[in-house]
Amino acid sequence: NAKKQAGNTIFFNSQMQTEELERLRLEADLQQAIQQQELHLNYQPIICLTTNQVVGFEALVRWHHQERGWVSPVNFIPLAEQTGLIIPLGEWVLQEACRQIKLWEQELAKTGHLSIAVNLSGVQLTQPGLVNFIENLWKNCGNKKIYIKLEVTESVLMKNGEVAIETLAKLRSNGIQICIDDFGTGYSSLAYLHLLPIDTVKIDRSFVNQMTEDPRNLDIVETIITLAHRLDLNVVAEGVETQAQRDILRSLHCEYGQGYFFSKPLPPQQIVTWISQLSH
Ligand code: C2E
Ligand code: CA
Ligand code: CA
Ligand code: CA
Repeated sequence: NAKKQAGNTIFFNSQMQTEELERLRLEADLQQAIQQQELHLNYQPIICLTTNQVVGFEALVRWHHQERGWVSPVNFIPLAEQTGLIIPLGEWVLQEACRQIKLWEQELAKTGHLSIAVNLSGVQLTQPGLVNFIENLWKNCGNKKIYIKLEVTESVLMKNGEVAIETLAKLRSNGIQICIDDFGTGYSSLAYLHLLPIDTVKIDRSFVNQMTEDPRNLDIVETIITLAHRLDLNVVAEGVETQAQRDILRSLHCEYGQGYFFSKPLPPQQIVTWISQLSH
């Protein structure tokens, strides 16, 4: 019995070592990827549910690794947060989104006002230089047609409390809109919502997805929309995959939708074509 236990321990340790080694390799690769242009941004359209017009995009990072192929952000954002790589990664994302805004200024001029929403991690929010970094960036690439928004998850706001809220309030007082992401999953009290320096609520896709099957999810979606409107906030429903879901959201007066029903996240080269198809 003792032998078996010892054997198990060795097995367990070597398994841990393999995992640790893999993690270290991924970390080294990610560090390289940030420097060597292996990261890309895709853009997922956000649609006005009353006019069917595109109102903006969410920028979502993609990693194309030489051997691993496409690595999902679900697999490398948490690692980037643990290792601090999220700081250079996050700066790259902001810079790249601003570079794209400049490129699109002419091409998308006919489309009217557009927003580009960039995801911010909690680690970034607590960095002292963040506000200056964004403001400098914005001075260089800001324009009247396309503007930047920031998305912060509900749980990040809960975890980082005052510091996060102060930082967001500063950014917002400089005209940058803030969205609360994955709303409904972070256990914050609804009554707390009016204290946050935000403009938009994004309902987490888990509720939107289950809306037609589970009436409790429909209730949650309806409650979030009603409360947000009472607080003068806009609502984006995430993960809209079917026409039925779109129709329900419309009937609940949800302003905006995002999801595979409208479009998957697309590389920037495809966005201009996608928009011109939309208006026909
Ligand atoms: P998120 O911010 O909640 O982004 C929405 C995710 O839902 C994206 O996954 C998007 O592709 C996916 N999605 C959109 N519509 C649908 C739909 O109709 N059905 C389903 N099932 N999924 C849909 P993605 O691109 O894999 O990103 C995953 C997460 O990684 C993001 O969740 C965000 O938390 C994080 N992330 C992505 N890019 C960045 C970034 O630049 N910075 C930071 N800090 N996090 C990022
Ligand atoms: Ca987001
Ligand atoms: Ca989300
Ligand atoms: Ca999410």
